[in-house]
Amino acid sequence: MKTESDNRMFPVSDKSQTIIDCFMGLLNHSNVDIHYNVKINKFEKKENVFHMSSQFETFLSDKVLITTGGFSNPEHYSWISELGIQITPPIPSLFTFNISEPKLNELQGISLFAKVKIAETKFEESAQLLITHWGLSGPAILKLSAFAAQFLHAKNYNFEILVNWLNDCNDVSLNSYFQIQKENFGSHKINLQNEFQLPRKLLIYLLNKAGINEQLKWAEVSKKQLITLTEILLRDRYKSTGKTIFKSEFVTCGGVSLNEVNFKTMESKKVSKLYFAGEVMDIDAVTGGFNFQAAWTTAWIASKAIASEE
Ligand SMILES: Cc1cc2nc3c(=O)[nH]c(=O)nc-3n(C[C@H](O)[C@H](O)[C@H](O)COP(=O)(O)OP(=O)(O)OC[C@H]3O[C@@H](n4cnc5c(N)ncnc54)[C@H](O)[C@@H]3O)c2cc1C
Repeated sequence: MKTESDNRMFPVSDKSQTIIDCFMGLLNHSNVDIHYNVKINKFEKKENVFHMSSQFETFLSDKVLITTGGFSNPEHYSWISELGIQITPPIPSLFTFNISEPKLNELQGISLFAKVKIAETKFEESAQLLITHWGLSGPAILKLSAFAAQFLHAKNYNFEILVNWLNDCNDVSLNSYFQIQKENFGSHKINLQNEFQLPRKLLIYLLNKAGINEQLKWAEVSKKQLITLTEILLRDRYKSTGKTIFKSEFVTCGGVSLNEVNFKTMESKKVSKLYFAGEVMDIDAVTGGFNFQAAWTTAWIASKAIASEE
């Protein structure tokens, strides 16, 4: 495993096949039977025995661990809710933001460390931000979408986002920097690259947005222009008109309500000998292994409890 600068963990190979191989090796070693392409569509408990039926066959068991993952459609949970188990309605998490602003979209591919905030809320993230041809993406946006999943869903994905292109720089330090430049380097062209290392194309876009020609010298920039530039560098405001849905939702927020489960054993509080693990429950995390860890940890707890039971 390797750990990225923002604590996300991946196999050194950068291939999900490595993880699959690891589990397949363990399953083969333990002679675990796998029934592929068998969809359980009926699930009942009759006289302490679970009956799980697919189109062609029925499996019987006195204990069951459900690990069917997340679904965006609430109907997919009906076979669980029919047992009287409460489901938190599923909504997407980990998606990117649609921002239709042609001049920003032209900067697609630019990636930098920045702070993003959902306007008028406390949802804020500092991480790598990626400009795409449809809007904004990258770890900063994915994290924001995860932590604000409920809020954004309630807003029908129409909201405003504020970008601090200088990440942790604030009004005081930026204004004193402007003052020093004006006093000491008046004959020099405005060039924030040395100080802030902004990609050149992005810098020109931001200066132009503030009504400043990049050829202008520090002495020629008006106070009003610097006030506008401060706003754009620290609180650049964009209207998001939706989320990107095409296969970009990695995780479902919602599922089996957490108050239905005993976390010491992962057993259902209502249906004895029925266990849950993984994303089928109302657990979602950011990418980088945290969802896998949640799935594996809960499966480990459930397996231990199942194996130790009479
Ligand atoms: C593109 C993508 C990238 C991701 N990247 C990351 C990442 O980098 N890091 C991270 O932590 N997480 C990531 N995730 C999320 C992570 O994959 C899931 O959180 C994790 O796999 C959940 O594990 P699980 O075992 O609970 O469910 P799943 O892995 O979803 O497995 C559920 C299984 O149950 C089967 N099933 C469902 N219903 C039935 C039924 N009725 N009958 C029989 N079988 C059924 C499904 O076919 C599936 O095989 C990513 C997800 C996606 C889609």
